[in-house]
Amino acid sequence: MSLNRSHPEKTPHILVLGMGGTIAGLASAPEKPLEYVAGQVGVDSLVTHIESAIPQGVKLLSHQLANINSRNLSESLLSLLGKTVRSSLEDPAVLGIVVTHGTDTIEETGVFLQLSCGQHANRLGKRVILTGAMLPSNAPGADGPSNLLDAIKWASTPLDNCPGGIYAVMDGRVCMAMDLAKRHPSALNAPVQSSPSSSAGLINPSWLSGVKAVQTAWTEDLPIPEEGEWPWVEILTSHAGARPETVSLWAESQVKGLVLAGSGMGGFHDAWLEPLKQAASKGIALVRTSRTGSGFTLPNIPEKEPLGCLASGGLSAPRARIALQLALNAEKQAKLAGKSLTWQDFFARIAVLPAVG
Ligand code: ASP
Repeated sequence: MSLNRSHPEKTPHILVLGMGGTIAGLASAPEKPLEYVAGQVGVDSLVTHIESAIPQGVKLLSHQLANINSRNLSESLLSLLGKTVRSSLEDPAVLGIVVTHGTDTIEETGVFLQLSCGQHANRLGKRVILTGAMLPSNAPGADGPSNLLDAIKWASTPLDNCPGGIYAVMDGRVCMAMDLAKRHPSALNAPVQSSPSSSAGLINPSWLSGVKAVQTAWTEDLPIPEEGEWPWVEILTSHAGARPETVSLWAESQVKGLVLAGSGMGGFHDAWLEPLKQAASKGIALVRTSRTGSGFTLPNIPEKEPLGCLASGGLSAPRARIALQLALNAEKQAKLAGKSLTWQDFFARIAVLPAVG
């Protein structure tokens, strides 16, 4: 792992960015692994811990961006991460990037990096890999070290095997980072258990062709919002007994967009129709998704699209929220550049991305 001592950053290396999470967590006592505090151990220590297992010739540099419990992830931290990833991808000495992250909101970060840096990473032939852990670092059988090692190995896999892009590695599986979805509170594979994925050791050809289809379709990254410039977007969940006030109170606010996590195929309670009309007439952007947690929300299914809503395609509610924020920001930037593109133009490009099989 030795780097050029005077200029370590000029030696070709894999950059490991630390964001915190359970992978950097410490339990109060190893026999109580669920009682712990996330974001306690520095990323340099995480890397040092696996040093002896790192494949020969792979050089690593680590950099701590944050050390948080990812349930507290902020938009300004996403801006910092996105800009760091973008500029590091452009650095000829950086061969690939691994990001250690909490799993609670890894889904949001995954889609954010795909939409803001995915094309860039693909064009430069470099991989960005998110990883995390479900057990704190001092728990017996902690999964962090093997996940980090797998992520580093995946970052150094030859490009012939799999193209540059934004991925995630967890519990021996690899998926596109935009397919991450934490669907269990504690299982070791929680963030990838319902994501199309491949074994990290042996790439599944049908998964790989799905990855390539997404990369062919994603031809232009969206701008990263500046800190403090992220449009305000909320998620509202439809349910039995939904009340009009859930929407009308938001329609009176400064919110710029609402993601409606509807039931079934993304339909919402009729009690929301009138207040949603009010929201739409105020220019609040509306996106429809499904609270079921998987599958697709398609335009005009099961009914004709109400109120200029856009269907989210394969995006879950948390992913649709990030996508809508980026689309609203892209519209703002386009206007400043004298182009008449709308958030709907940008969001539609995201919602039609093909599914990774
Ligand atoms: N609460 C933790 C976090 O997201 C969970 C984890 O990392 O698994 O930071």
